Amino acid sequence: MKVAVFSTKPYDREYLKEANQIYRYKLDLFEPHLSVKTCKLAFGYEVVCAFVNDCLDAAVLEELSRNGTRLIVLRSAGFNHVDIKAAEKLDITVARVPAYSPHGVAEHAVALILALNRKIYRAYNRVREGNFSLDGLIGFELCGQTAGVLGTGKIGSVFIKIMQGFGVNVIAYDPVQNPDIAVEYVALDELFSRSDIISLHLPLTPATKHLINKQTIQSMKKGVMLINTSRGGLIDTPALISGLKSGAIGYVGLDVYEEESDIFFEDLSSQIIQDDIFARLLTFPNVVVTGHQAFFTRNALKAIAETTLRNIRGFQDRNIPKSNLVTSQLIGGK
Ligand code: NAD
Repeated sequence: MKVAVFSTKPYDREYLKEANQIYRYKLDLFEPHLSVKTCKLAFGYEVVCAFVNDCLDAAVLEELSRNGTRLIVLRSAGFNHVDIKAAEKLDITVARVPAYSPHGVAEHAVALILALNRKIYRAYNRVREGNFSLDGLIGFELCGQTAGVLGTGKIGSVFIKIMQGFGVNVIAYDPVQNPDIAVEYVALDELFSRSDIISLHLPLTPATKHLINKQTIQSMKKGVMLINTSRGGLIDTPALISGLKSGAIGYVGLDVYEEESDIFFEDLSSQIIQDDIFARLLTFPNVVVTGHQAFFTRNALKAIAETTLRNIRGFQDRNIPKSNLVTSQLIGGK
């Protein structure tokens, strides 16, 4: 089986090659993102393997289908970059890695909270310059605060347990309640109005796009801390910037950004950032941005590589686990 693997970095190659020792598929590892321009690289490949910033819209899927692709394996849990309905129409199977390291992502969300609260990033730079002043570094105790969690699936439920360990009072919103966690579910507007910290752990779908917008920011507690390790499109970034400027939002920790596909995963340190909205975000002293690294643990890379190749074997054997299949049911379609 020939597999065209897009958006590969040295670490992907290492873990995929290791996992492939069992299967011995012919993995052709391409560096570019998948797009209308690059999909000709996949000509004649029955399987295409993609990551979060690859484009799998209708135009790309049609071209892949014409070129002989029958299976897309995503090296991610998120699937917002795939036009699922188009894939179904073209009879292309799409499989993902639904859970590879919920602990890694939840722990990264907690790392953002701690760094923002105790201003670790500012303290680190000050101390290195011999500045031991504490002015501007004051934090608050997490114990006794209220955290609102949107999405109580695999990552959200781990995040809740960690926060509860800190003595944080956790409230949650999810249309599907998780019976495995002890948490108070509340309506969305109540979550916004009661939370000192809000953490997003829900998928990006047409229904959740820009869930954090001008109106919802207005309904939050003044000075709220907002954490997003899910998908950038959940937040309307210009509204977020207005909220930061007015003080409505007190802290922001982001691992994802709506327009990240042109920025993240690359070394742009000697270039000028062309995205003025993103550049403005980086100027705030109370904003910490990481470049989509919440998943990035050894455990996760190993699990992603293994499940991705197992999904290909499942396709051959016609038994990909239902939880790994990406279908329109996941976005509320029929
Ligand atoms: P999951 O499917 O286990 O849980 C998602 C939960 O969100 C489900 O319980 C679902 O019912 C809920 N949900 C759906 N619509 C909602 C809404 N409108 N409001 C509130 N809740 C809603 O997914 P997961 O494994 O916990 O992952 C969550 C998200 O994290 C993924 O969709 C992905 O985008 C993101 N993610 C990011 C990284 C990273 O490196 N930053 C890594 C993995 C996953």
